[in-house]
Amino acid sequence: MKMIQLTEKCFYFQGAVNIGYIRSGKFGMLIDAGLDAQTAKKVCRQLTELSFPLTHLFITHAHADHYGGAAYIQEKHHVYTFASKEEAAILTNPILEPLYLFQGNKPLPELRNKFLEAAPILIDEEAAEGEHQFGDVLFECIAFPGHSLMQLGVKADGILFAADAYFGTAQLKKHKIPYIIDAEDTLQSLEKLLTTKCLGAVPGHGTYEEAFQETVKQNLEYHQHVLSVLYNMLSGDSLTHEQIIQKMCRQFDVNPPSLSSWLLFRTAITAYATKLVKDKKAQMVVEDAILYLKR
Ligand SMILES: [Zn+2]
Repeated sequence: MKMIQLTEKCFYFQGAVNIGYIRSGKFGMLIDAGLDAQTAKKVCRQLTELSFPLTHLFITHAHADHYGGAAYIQEKHHVYTFASKEEAAILTNPILEPLYLFQGNKPLPELRNKFLEAAPILIDEEAAEGEHQFGDVLFECIAFPGHSLMQLGVKADGILFAADAYFGTAQLKKHKIPYIIDAEDTLQSLEKLLTTKCLGAVPGHGTYEEAFQETVKQNLEYHQHVLSVLYNMLSGDSLTHEQIIQKMCRQFDVNPPSLSSWLLFRTAITAYATKLVKDKKAQMVVEDAILYLKR
């Protein structure tokens, strides 16, 4: 992973999942930990080679691609670890992710894979939105819910580590139906990003941009597009929840290759559906033990 310096104190390791780093004196904080021990090892090795300190760890949200490497880091380094209270519940009990994706049932063994469930970690401090400190560095936690229950972005030295509050343009197109758990929160977090003052931002997936607001606007437009596609789909006969998942996947040229993948798309599509329900543009109705979405 290539390490890129953004300011005197801020860096990031560019990869499929970006990892941020803030350094000041003898203190250094990683922001997220990558998918697995192998990734974390590469990052730690680079820090060691540069004699850069690693004393703190911040986990933005409890998705395995962002914290899978954290157990390795905690094992090899003494790191004081932050996460929001909500994400900490999953980080310390990682079975909760495949559990909720599997609608609360104890997950099948195939769902307990490294993309959905990582090793548990310890959280030293449950961070809330607002100012925090490590060493002599003041940093701000900004709540960006929508992609997860209480994802936190980190702003320090003018740089915003935005986690998955928005995706780079290429990643947005690649995902086709972006993973979200709530469309309303997602849209509000994107609006919040537009008013966040900073020199530039690093998304969880994508590249650092100074003019990241353009990318954020594309994200906003894209989510609105997905919502309108779903809304238009409801104009004919009433559709079952599963039919909607199939139709949305077809419409966006997605063919989920596994149960894991299908569950992720089901959650995302349901997030758009619940937005239509909250906006009174659709309703969820159970008839004859079948869940329908209709206008
Ligand atoms: Zn994520």
